[in-house]
Amino acid sequence: MIETDIAIVGAGFGGLAAAIRLKQRGHHDFVVLEKADEVGGTWRDNTYPGCACDVPSHLYSFSFALNPGWSDTFSGQAEIWAYLRGCVEKFGVTPHLRLGHTVGDAAWDERSQRWHVETDRGTFSARVLIVATGPLSEPSLPDIPGLATFAGTVFHSARWRHDHDLAGRRVAVIGTGASAIQFVPKIQPVVGSLTVFQRTPPWIMGRMSRPISRAEHAVYRRVPGAQRLVRTAIYWVRDASALGFLHPRINRLGQKLAEGHLRRQVGDPELRAKLTPTYVMGCKRVLLSNDYLPALTQSNVDVVTESIREVRPGGIVTVDGVEHEADTIIFGTGFHVTDSPVMQRIRGRDGRTLAETWTPTMRAYNGTAVAGFPNLFFLLGPNTGLGHTSVVLMAESQVAHVLAALDHMRRNGIAAIEPTEQAQRRYVERIDARMAGTVWATGGCQSWYLDSTGRNSTLWPGFATGFRLRLRRFRAADYAAVRLQQGAPL
Ligand code: NAP
Repeated sequence: MIETDIAIVGAGFGGLAAAIRLKQRGHHDFVVLEKADEVGGTWRDNTYPGCACDVPSHLYSFSFALNPGWSDTFSGQAEIWAYLRGCVEKFGVTPHLRLGHTVGDAAWDERSQRWHVETDRGTFSARVLIVATGPLSEPSLPDIPGLATFAGTVFHSARWRHDHDLAGRRVAVIGTGASAIQFVPKIQPVVGSLTVFQRTPPWIMGRMSRPISRAEHAVYRRVPGAQRLVRTAIYWVRDASALGFLHPRINRLGQKLAEGHLRRQVGDPELRAKLTPTYVMGCKRVLLSNDYLPALTQSNVDVVTESIREVRPGGIVTVDGVEHEADTIIFGTGFHVTDSPVMQRIRGRDGRTLAETWTPTMRAYNGTAVAGFPNLFFLLGPNTGLGHTSVVLMAESQVAHVLAALDHMRRNGIAAIEPTEQAQRRYVERIDARMAGTVWATGGCQSWYLDSTGRNSTLWPGFATGFRLRLRRFRAADYAAVRLQQGAPL
């Protein structure tokens, strides 16, 4: 058994934020368990052509590690991944990394008041477990009848097959979400034919991206505070846009802009009708692209809106009986967000898994701690997602909250801490009440934000600022604690 004070699972934005902040606070006895051989999380795994962030780079980075060298206002995957690797070096996290360690079961041991975390390279015993596996890490592949019989190549956008040359091939793309709209325009000029299977059209706005000039780089490097000022301005403009999601009538104005974008980019009324959403903008993630819609108007592209019935060796059959021939199928079908496999591997005080505890819906106090799971902290857990600004902000404020909990435990001689059932219930009730009037609840769509019960257990129903202010305060009364040594409740 390998002893450590704190085990962090996952080395993406969340896990690395936790590692860096712990180090800065003088905690040096921790490990970061990462199944891959590199850090980077979603920015390591998603390498599809055109992969980039749709949140401005100045904001989509750590508040404590601004990067004056971003090449574009919206950076690409390779640059963001390099940024994260740079942070590991800069903040001395490398000695704490345990790469190539896949976590199996993680169980709370009541007797020792510690977590036993099994990995394929040994078992770790940790006082505190920080789970930072990310909501968008497990690709979701729909169970389409006959898929196993397909004679060609099949892959998911988050597991791009760079060894598979698409030139001249008949390619089918299933899904039209944030990932697909980025890679479709990149592969369209290369492939022979492209059939895009669309179940629900997304609302798309123009993407105001531009290279950052040499002069700007010089200013960011030489003028203290200049980049921070730009970041702050982006922060407030972005956060104010939450108003449209909270009050859907405001979003209807934004929808007019998206309608104009579609009209300008797609001349053919028949194709435009297929691409026009019937729900209120914001109900599903609003996508940013200047080249997706034009790609769909090209002569080698067919947009299919009939539902898929089955896959045969030679292609995909829709419910109207038409077989759409394909050599390659690419799934842009998203991720297991509300049913991530990691939930089945974490066992709390009574031996139940998080998956069992979170059936039928995920609930956590401050999106971070869960009643019945002592000394467990989740980064980007339930109701911490954002559709309008950077989730890095959320992860950072959760890390600050975890540090406050650790300080509280140290100062008060506490061995184990978990939110009380009442505090968690009150918190979740407040979230649900605020969610009721939002566009996600009233916009008339089905989205991955909603779980199988129809509850939105993924998004934070408000301004990022509201979440950050809330998490700034550590409310000891909302936690149940077990004292050190005596093992008696406080
Ligand atoms: P997604 O948004 O969940 O989109 C999945 C797509 O697949 C949707 O069009 C969905 O249709 C379709 N689909 C799912 N199951 C299907 C089935 N059985 N048959 C037919 N179609 C099916 O996934 P994503 O595009 O990978 O994006 C996931 C999230 O990653 C985004 O929402 C965003 O948060 C993040 N992301 C961010 C960026 C960025 O720039 N920051 C880029 C990429 C991804 P329905 O709409 O009908 O469900």
